[in-house]
Amino acid sequence: ATPTAIMVGTGLGAQRGVLFKSATALETAAHIATVAFDKTGTLTKGEPEVTDVIVDGSAVGLDEDTVLALAAAVERESEHPLAAAVAAYAADRAAPVLPATGFHNVPGHGAIAQVDGRTVAVGNAKLLAAEGVDLGRLGPRRDQLAAGGRTAVLVAIDGHAVAVIALADAARPSSAAAVAALHEAGVRVVMITGDNAATGRRIGDTLGIDEVIAEVLPADKATKIAELQAGGAKVAFVGDGVNDAPALATADVGVAIGAGTDVAIESADVVLMTSDPLGVPTALTIGQATVRKEK
Ligand code: ADP
Ligand code: MG
Repeated sequence: ATPTAIMVGTGLGAQRGVLFKSATALETAAHIATVAFDKTGTLTKGEPEVTDVIVDGSAVGLDEDTVLALAAAVERESEHPLAAAVAAYAADRAAPVLPATGFHNVPGHGAIAQVDGRTVAVGNAKLLAAEGVDLGRLGPRRDQLAAGGRTAVLVAIDGHAVAVIALADAARPSSAAAVAALHEAGVRVVMITGDNAATGRRIGDTLGIDEVIAEVLPADKATKIAELQAGGAKVAFVGDGVNDAPALATADVGVAIGAGTDVAIESADVVLMTSDPLGVPTALTIGQATVRKEK
């Protein structure tokens, strides 16, 4: 595109809260065939809240408040948004504050620590499976909650599954409209998430997403983008987190949510200043108008 067209496009983007970092970003935006969105913090607000707590502590002889206190002790040591929500819920319920030792984070799975002489694991089904814990009666409860779009966090104490903590993370108000606008423009829309497949599918259906790629480990997001690019399709990736930086760099156009982490913003080609997903179709439209002017 001509320098004038680039200047006009960049200015138009700025007016609409879409910051193009380079002329290449603007030009490539015109040719995007697939947009992949991160889920948490991108299509959703990234502020999960506990909605349901199901406890069966009989196997370890513990009551509901104690189970919650043990889970919260582990989650207070974690930086994961789900962990913060679990810790906040326990604090609201005035559950006792217990110290955790030997904390370790298992990326994409959860966290484990020793609390009050017990081994406490908090995370997804993969974490419990890796610890050799059978979900027992809690399995069907977890499946129900996941089918309803909840993120189900499981708690195991000394090798026994004792609780399911369900969390909901509301979609951003314009996420569905952004997906619809992309469809209107003939663009395929994918969602990539570390969350469970059933949860991801439910949220994806609600938003009208074409393909949901779930249970993706943080380190594998960039690989998924490369797979979407196979065959030559130009792919944009939209993300907010530290985990998203490699995928933002791999994508033909990396788009960061303005409210996202500094690392995401630095790795991106385009920044949505108002964190509004509708900025994505806007960016593509401005790119197309810019390239058209060149002819
Ligand atoms: P995402 O941010 O897309 O959900 P993550 O890779 O951060 O992806 O996490 C993947 C999954 O691992 C979460 O959905 C959750 O089930 C589990 N998980 C990770 N860390 C924790 C934690 N500290 N507490 C509970 N669950 C966790
Ligand atoms: Mg995210």
